[in-house]
Amino acid sequence: MGVDFAPCTACGETFPDCGHFAECNEDLGGCGRRYCSDDCAKLASPGRDHPWTWREQEALPQEERSAIKTTCVDCRSENPSDENLLEFLRLQNGLTRDQVVAMYLEANRVFRAKADGGT
Ligand SMILES: [Zn+2]
Ligand SMILES: [Zn+2]
Repeated sequence: MGVDFAPCTACGETFPDCGHFAECNEDLGGCGRRYCSDDCAKLASPGRDHPWTWREQEALPQEERSAIKTTCVDCRSENPSDENLLEFLRLQNGLTRDQVVAMYLEANRVFRAKADGGT
């Protein structure tokens, strides 16, 4: 049995799936994303002040358990990962990914031309 490492969706750290991690559990209405810690996941259940614990879930009748809804930072679009920040800026400026790539390459070209052109 090998240990798998997965990247945390929030902070980008990789963590082993055999240790403690927080999961936006699909069985509990979540999206299935995994995080290295509860701090990163910020799991919540609407209408409750803290996420369901396993003990609480097990005490529920089956139909109530299947009605549980779990959300995480990604479900609520609150995950400020670099990827999401980039996507946010891109959409705010009405740019396609191709346009951003073109801007990036052009800026690099100008920068390099300046660096070379001084002499
Ligand atoms: Zn993390
Ligand atoms: Zn989620």
